[in-house]
Amino acid sequence: MGQKTIYYFDNNATTRVPPEVLEAMLPYLTDEWGNPSSAYGFGNRLAKHIEHARQKVAALINAEPREIVFTSCGTESNNTAIQSCLLTHPGKRHVITTAVEHSANIKFGQFLQKQGYEVTFLPVEPDGSLDLHLLETSIRPDTAVVSVMWANNETGVLFPIEEIAAICLSKGVLFHTDAVQVPGKLKIDVKSLGVDLLSLSGHKLHAPKGIGLLYVKRRTKFQPYVIGGHQERGKRGGTENVASIVGFGRAADLVMARIDEENSRVRRMRDRLENSILAGIPHTIRTGARDPRLPNTSNIAFDGVEAEAILVLLDHVGVCASSGSACTTGALDPSHVLTAMGLSPSRARGCVRFSLGFYNSDADVDYLLEHLPPIIQRLRAMAPTATADRPRHKHPSTPKHDEAARVAAD
Ligand code: PLP
Repeated sequence: MGQKTIYYFDNNATTRVPPEVLEAMLPYLTDEWGNPSSAYGFGNRLAKHIEHARQKVAALINAEPREIVFTSCGTESNNTAIQSCLLTHPGKRHVITTAVEHSANIKFGQFLQKQGYEVTFLPVEPDGSLDLHLLETSIRPDTAVVSVMWANNETGVLFPIEEIAAICLSKGVLFHTDAVQVPGKLKIDVKSLGVDLLSLSGHKLHAPKGIGLLYVKRRTKFQPYVIGGHQERGKRGGTENVASIVGFGRAADLVMARIDEENSRVRRMRDRLENSILAGIPHTIRTGARDPRLPNTSNIAFDGVEAEAILVLLDHVGVCASSGSACTTGALDPSHVLTAMGLSPSRARGCVRFSLGFYNSDADVDYLLEHLPPIIQRLRAMAPTATADRPRHKHPSTPKHDEAARVAAD
């Protein structure tokens, strides 16, 4: 039975493992199955392949190989970073993060609050940007760490990491950034950024799922999160995921080689998709600032329609995209990112994220642009009052919501 063609517009969720990466990994899933910590050569010869991969991922972010700690995912890297800062500064019990972080930070922050820590979730502006003055004045003598994402996974909006790092440095506070969405889309240079800790996840850059890393700047005090063996120089217990580490290294090579193409070809396709949707489908707006933004991400509000319904119908024609809605109590909660930006829950429930990547083509964009308008039309016809008689970009809403619409429609 032939497999249905997939038109994949969900590269912020995960990415394809290309043949080059799989090929690099295969020996460690077949013949080379030893344990790198073993005393004998059949096992310990694998250690040099781990170190080789460490050099490659370090090169991706301009770090020293010894500053890289392999983890299991971006979530673990984020949790590790924040917990390490708290445990190495026991007198400091305050953490600053933002209201639009990935749940890896939001939920961990809420967990910390239950443990008696104080966590500030900084609000964002209607275009998704951060008030740096507010960030600066929120730093207190007992702040252990500021953890702010670089690129938002839902909107692609970028925070000014270099400026935030400079503020944290001037206040003597550690700074961690969740850069999980960045590799392959923007160049990363930890030295010029000035961050103390930075998280990446392999599966967002064409490595397999289940591998991540935490950059820990030299001389930063560190406390492991996964406690066990001596692996990763005592910074993360657990037998190494050799195949995935090697795949991560190979993917880092590929991503570095392709970054300029990603930045121009993918941006052009994203812009064509976004502009065509906004111009061709009534009652649509882009959510979040146009710039600075990841070159591959577009988040569009389709007023009067539920994103989940759009996604189901897109799936029927082979298109993969996503919404930020989360199913918590059996009902769909609107995205915490979009509501933090001031979108009303009903508008936020109509937002769809399209995230392009290296394997997208102009033909994919054409296909989506052919199939999306009739889907929206069909859904709106089923709920005709939703957008009827409303002028474009004008909706009954809170003042903040109106502001969000105005900014997004610029
Ligand atoms: N941070 C961001 C910004 C993400 O987009 C994701 C995944 O979507 C994560 C963290 C979590 O990464 P992982 O799936 O590797 O745990």
